[in-house]
Amino acid sequence: MWTLDDTSGPPSWRRRASATGATLAFSTRRGGTSLPPFDTLNLGRSTLDDPEAIGNNRALLLNSLGLSPLLLATAGQVHGTRIVEATGPGHQADCDALVSSIPGLALAVTTADCMSLLFEAPGAVAAAHSGWRGAADGMPVAALSAVCERAACGADRVHVHFGPCIRGCCYEVGEDVAARFPEGALRHPGGKPRLDLPTATRLALLAAGVPGANIHDTDACTACEPYWYFSHRRDQGRTGRLWGIAACAVTA
Ligand SMILES: [Zn+2]
Repeated sequence: MWTLDDTSGPPSWRRRASATGATLAFSTRRGGTSLPPFDTLNLGRSTLDDPEAIGNNRALLLNSLGLSPLLLATAGQVHGTRIVEATGPGHQADCDALVSSIPGLALAVTTADCMSLLFEAPGAVAAAHSGWRGAADGMPVAALSAVCERAACGADRVHVHFGPCIRGCCYEVGEDVAARFPEGALRHPGGKPRLDLPTATRLALLAAGVPGANIHDTDACTACEPYWYFSHRRDQGRTGRLWGIAACAVTA
């Protein structure tokens, strides 16, 4: 079960009972050092925020999760479906997901409305960035396949976690985008259709063999909750970035 923990360090969503002992978390915008419009826990280097503040924010968050800022792998996201295996700390250009089996290595993807997806399997984790393009082009199942391959297990052994993202309550899309998704992932409240990214992702993962009981959602909408989340659409692009983080367990 996911809980929003604001009792120690920067408030973040924490996974209390990981199936594999992995560290899994989703950040919020609170508890950092950045000034408006990046207030306050902006983690994205693609923004115009002060790089020193971003570095401070990253260290604050990682330390609060018991992870080392020196063991961080990030992805240079391009709304694609390329996945890279992280064999050590550093920035991987031109990919939207990272997979690894290195204990304690934090995989981080940045979002501000797109989904961050965390995968855990016995001995491997993955973190993926998946907006409508990623979802339409198959990123969720591509990342699932990568973690299954790394862990040498079937989809039935994988747990998948959905972070705060824009949802069917808020996400108006054009007919061209809507046409890329099954009807079950769309809402029709009148006017433009709305896309529910978590439903689209859930349907794809279920079809790929992930048991429904292994799919876990924070149920948080970035656009609905300005107190907690950055939202690219709500804030018209002038905003910070959230993180989804996954790290394999460090065993003695
Ligand atoms: Zn909403």
